[in-house]
Amino acid sequence: MTTAKPVSRHTRQVRVGPVPVGGGAPIVVQSMTNTDTADIAATVRQVAELYQAGSEIVRVTVNTLEAAKAVPEVRAKLDDLGMAVPLVGDFHFNGHKLLTQVPACAEALAKLRINPGNVGRGEKRDEQFATLIEIACKYDKPVRIGVNWGSLDQELAARMMDENAGLAQPLDAREVMFQAMIASALQSARRAEELGLGGDKIILSCKMSAVQDLIAVYRKLAVQCDYPLHLGLTEAGMGSKGIVASTAALAVLLQEGIGDTIRVSLTPEPGEPRTKEVQVAQEILQTMGLRAFTPLVTACPGCGRTTSTVFQELALSIQTWLRGQMPAWRGVYPGVEEMKVAVMGCVVNGPGESKHANIGISLPGTGEVPVAPVYVDGRKTVTLKGDRIAEDFQAIVEDYVQRTYGNKQT
Ligand code: SF4
Repeated sequence: MTTAKPVSRHTRQVRVGPVPVGGGAPIVVQSMTNTDTADIAATVRQVAELYQAGSEIVRVTVNTLEAAKAVPEVRAKLDDLGMAVPLVGDFHFNGHKLLTQVPACAEALAKLRINPGNVGRGEKRDEQFATLIEIACKYDKPVRIGVNWGSLDQELAARMMDENAGLAQPLDAREVMFQAMIASALQSARRAEELGLGGDKIILSCKMSAVQDLIAVYRKLAVQCDYPLHLGLTEAGMGSKGIVASTAALAVLLQEGIGDTIRVSLTPEPGEPRTKEVQVAQEILQTMGLRAFTPLVTACPGCGRTTSTVFQELALSIQTWLRGQMPAWRGVYPGVEEMKVAVMGCVVNGPGESKHANIGISLPGTGEVPVAPVYVDGRKTVTLKGDRIAEDFQAIVEDYVQRTYGNKQT
């Protein structure tokens, strides 16, 4: 693989349960449930799905007393299932009350997420923020101070806008908004440290919904602090728009070494699994050469030389099968996540691309002899034919995985 890998920005390291974030640790994939947290069975089910898909941290909404009381039970059920995935509680407006009333919720969580714009108004804001930080200190929990431009602290923003208006050469409103986002995060972090929270217990985020805004804010934030940064384009949207926008924003920042943990905030399409956001986050990191999670399939786009859908179907079925194997393979075949498989539509680029993969197959294009040469570690080993090419190729991949990764020790 040709890579110009980004140099990781030096940040402090924060431990979220057993998962290290920042300080040179691998960039962490996280996700968030969309169940009612008070519905314990549904929340456990979805956290388990996200965890099995590869989410290393899962955030849950804690918005009511019932939700707060459910958190320890969700934690216990996940532990019973052998799933040690850290849970993060997302608090807005009433977090200070909920955590005071349900200390077991604070104990069960691995991190608290606080939005400084939604802690409270006026004098109550400082008091309620202090209560949240005192609880974090008491239970030794890290905190993400998560600023979101849709809920930016309005008092701070108005004050900074007024100050800017009084300048001889005022900045444009967009620039002032960026500065207000960063000030909200940094001032809250400073206050949290003054209240006793360790600098190694703080993660920051400043999420925006526009790609260029997110890049601009994080570039400025990254040079002003050494806290680990949580990266994500908020309200990214649905389908390809959400995926493309998130990838465009995150890839630029990750390439510059900015970002210690990421979330892709996709709106699931009807019927689409919540785990899609985990898959996209993993694919961003893997296609950038930053981490490996699951064997990826290289496939050509197809063209007039291949008029059937056979190779598309094979590429899809192999990629789906490989992804489905990973929960079982992860512990048994160390290194398999880096395996590359190529499925190509004809002999023009097929053999060449296949030779660069661990295993590749070239399906016959229009007018070509109906055979499919298979390459293993760069050498042609067999030519498949007939109507069982897909099954035979899958068996070859499975055999390769067992032989190549079966005896490796982590
Ligand atoms: S490998 Fe063959 S089928 Fe695929 S895009 Fe290239 S020429 Fe077309």
